[in-house]
Amino acid sequence: MSNSGFLIVITAPSGSGKTTIYRHILEKYTDFEYSVSYTTRRQRKDEIEGVDYFYINRKEFERMIERGEFIEWAIVHGELYGTENKQIVDCLKRNKICILSIDVQGAIRVMKEYPDAVTIFIEPPSLEELEKRLRKRGTESEEEMKIRLMNAQNELEYKSHFKYIVVNDIVEDTLKDVENIIAREKELRR
Ligand code: 5GP
Repeated sequence: MSNSGFLIVITAPSGSGKTTIYRHILEKYTDFEYSVSYTTRRQRKDEIEGVDYFYINRKEFERMIERGEFIEWAIVHGELYGTENKQIVDCLKRNKICILSIDVQGAIRVMKEYPDAVTIFIEPPSLEELEKRLRKRGTESEEEMKIRLMNAQNELEYKSHFKYIVVNDIVEDTLKDVENIIAREKELRR
């Protein structure tokens, strides 16, 4: 196969299933690399430094902003998150497919820099279902969860900006849909 590198940006309101999707893709395909974001939020129990995120403090984050190291950064639910320029440039140089899992505002900024990026909006079946999933995940306090749900409502309004919209109802179907999108996009670049 002669694919040259490109970007796939998975975006969605928090709790819509982005993590399951990108982890599945990374397990299934060898030509993908994950763009590991930097964040100021605390590390969750099941997360690994340098795999899920790079965890840094606000001062370090601000220094990276000053040095222009982010292609985009955003304040999400009160914490800072940013995508490192260098990781993306290096990934594309290696002719790999670079996968990003970031929020809606960040995805829109990446699209401006890379208009050819394949953007996929993962939509929860409903806000009620999203709330259920967030509660089940149980990684946020009640207060944090309220913020995430409010932001989700906002983010849903932007879904038409993205090339593909996938409703994440039954996870197996969602994974199949995303695999089909990948196959199609690879085919278009052959
Ligand atoms: P979480 O704290 O649940 O891991 O992530 C919260 C939100 O921040 C999610 O929507 C996640 O996709 C988003 N996010 C993670 N990394 C980045 C990033 O580098 N930039 C932006 N804009 N959002 C990010």
